[in-house]
Amino acid sequence: MVPGVRLVLLGKQGAGKGTQCVRLSRHYVVPHISTGDMLRSATRSGTDFGKQVDEYMRLGELVPDDVMVKVVEHRLDQHDTKGRGFILDGFPRTVGQAEVLENLLLPRGLDLVLDLRVPTEAVLERLASRRVCSLCGTIYGIDSPTRRGALCDNCGGELHQRADDTEESIRRRLELYASATEPLTSWYAERNKLAVVDGMGPPEQVASRAIRAIDNRRHDRPPVI
Ligand code: AMP
Repeated sequence: MVPGVRLVLLGKQGAGKGTQCVRLSRHYVVPHISTGDMLRSATRSGTDFGKQVDEYMRLGELVPDDVMVKVVEHRLDQHDTKGRGFILDGFPRTVGQAEVLENLLLPRGLDLVLDLRVPTEAVLERLASRRVCSLCGTIYGIDSPTRRGALCDNCGGELHQRADDTEESIRRRLELYASATEPLTSWYAERNKLAVVDGMGPPEQVASRAIRAIDNRRHDRPPVI
C-alpha cells in the first residue's frame, strides 16, 4: 500500500466535504487542510489577516486568489504534508487557483480530485440544519444529528450556526460555486484526475464510496516517492 495520498475534494456548500474530509484524513492518516477553517480561525483570533478576510467571508464572496494562494502555499510547505500528503477542502475554488496548485505540486501532482455530488435542494436543506461545535469543529445536520441536543457528542462543546449560513450568503456562495468552481470538474476531468462520488446517504456510506474511488486510483499506479 502506498503511504499517504494527495487529494482535493470538490462539492457545493453543504455537500458534506468537511464531514468526509475528517473521515478520509483518519483513514489515510493525512492532514485535512480546510481553507475555510483556516480563515475562520484567523478571523476569530482577530489578526490583521483575519480582519482582511472577514468581510469577504460574511458576504459569501471569494477571498482574492493571490491571498488564498499564499495561505495554501505556506501550509503545503509544512513537514506533515510534504511527508504523507493531504486532503484539500475548499481549495482550489477557481481555475486560477488550480493552475497555481498544479505548479506547486510538481512533479508528483495530485493523486485524485473527488467531486462530491449532491442536488441543490438537498444542500439547501443540509445548510439550514447545519450546526458546528464551537470547540472541536464537528459538523452536525439532518444526516448526522447530535444525540445531546445543543451540545457536541464528542466534547460537550456548544453548537452554533456558521456566520455565513444565512439565506443571502448561501445563495451567493452557491452562485459562485456554479460560476467559478464547477468549471474545475471539467478542468480536472481533462487531466484524468476526476472521480465523481454520489454524496447522498449516510456519511459512512459516502465515505466508503470515496475510499473505493481513491483506492482504485492508487492501485492503478506504481508507488511514487
Ligand atoms: P468554506 O468553509 O470552504 O465554505 O469557506 C468559507 C469561506 O471562506 C468562503 O465562502 C470564502 O469566503 C472563503 N474561502 C475559503 N476557501 C477559499 C478559496 N479557496 N478561495 C476564496 N475564498 C475562500
